[in-house]
Amino acid sequence: LTVLGLESSCDDTAAAVLRRYAGGETEILSSVVYGQTDLHADFGGVVPEIAARAHAEALDHCVEQALTQAECGLGEIEAIAVTAGPGLIGGVVSGVMCAKGLAAATGLPLYGINHLAGHALTPRLTDDVPYPYLMLLVSGGHCQFLMVEGPDSFVRLGGTIDDAPGEAFDKVARLLGLPQPGGPAVEATAAQGAADGFALPRPLLDRPGCDLSFSGLKTAVLRARDAVVAAQGGLPEAARADLCASFQAAIVDVLVEKSHRALDLYRDTGPGQPSFCVAGGVAANTAIRRGLETLCADAGVRFCAPPLALCTDNAAMIAFAAIEQMSTRPPDGFALSARPRWPLDRASPAMLGSGK
Ligand code: ATP
Ligand code: FE
Repeated sequence: LTVLGLESSCDDTAAAVLRRYAGGETEILSSVVYGQTDLHADFGGVVPEIAARAHAEALDHCVEQALTQAECGLGEIEAIAVTAGPGLIGGVVSGVMCAKGLAAATGLPLYGINHLAGHALTPRLTDDVPYPYLMLLVSGGHCQFLMVEGPDSFVRLGGTIDDAPGEAFDKVARLLGLPQPGGPAVEATAAQGAADGFALPRPLLDRPGCDLSFSGLKTAVLRARDAVVAAQGGLPEAARADLCASFQAAIVDVLVEKSHRALDLYRDTGPGQPSFCVAGGVAANTAIRRGLETLCADAGVRFCAPPLALCTDNAAMIAFAAIEQMSTRPPDGFALSARPRWPLDRASPAMLGSGK
């Protein structure tokens, strides 16, 4: 089975070709990602209109390149998968239109995929992780603990009540004059600093359950920065590095402790010992991965994190989600619509009229 996947829900235009063999293993024949970081660099964040136009311009070429790299003609493709939400609506619409065009021209089945399902199923693309498993999905716009019961069945155990960690990394980078996307910049700067340089809060650790909060932490970084600037007339390199290291350490502490609680909750409510998986762009952070790995080793739980290139946005995860979901649901067809909001944790087929 050979599937073409498309992704355009944020600021990466991506296309990928995946093949599943009769034995059940899946191979990534190609995975092409066109980033838009340069286009948005002057604006301190992703500008939806610019993103939508860039996706529309890049998609055809991206698909062509994915097919070429896979050494695969469109005639060999057997299904088309596209991110149908959630995300910036202009980009999602561009992807869905492109996929519908391809499906119309070829007569191939079309699958609308939830971007978050793409992230949440990724561990199974590279590792032999059986359902059900516990997933921490940490990305630019989301942060939640999910019990992944099957390709289309997710139970939410908890999540952020305000910002997502990726958003916090990006905002902190902006506060400290570091480039976007903030995660890699803050991580690199943190490597030069001391994690105990600044005393920052660990939000919501005093409350039970596995909900999280990150907006207070970001505000604490702002206050700490202002205090340094007021005292020293500027932000010295060393203080900036210490702030990054202290911020990252706070994020690690919170994610590890809440993951611990999510594991306990899973064991209480779920079917026995889970595998613990992490995915989403923030899972590219080495300190976070290491913290979670240690937690799992101590708890005797199997830990699984996809390779970095599959943690950030890509189309391989979208094609893979379609391959997984083929056994549980029919294709969507041309009624497929783009959905800016699309919560993962209830039965929400992509084939709803727009605006519902
Ligand atoms: P969503 O998946 O929620 O729609 P998104 O697609 O924008 O959001 P991803 O591409 O999954 O998010 O992840 C991007 C986020 O990951 C950005 O906020 C970025 O700063 C963060 N990120 C990337 N690398 C790192 C890193 N090394 N450390 C921390 N954060 C990182
Ligand atoms: Fe994403």
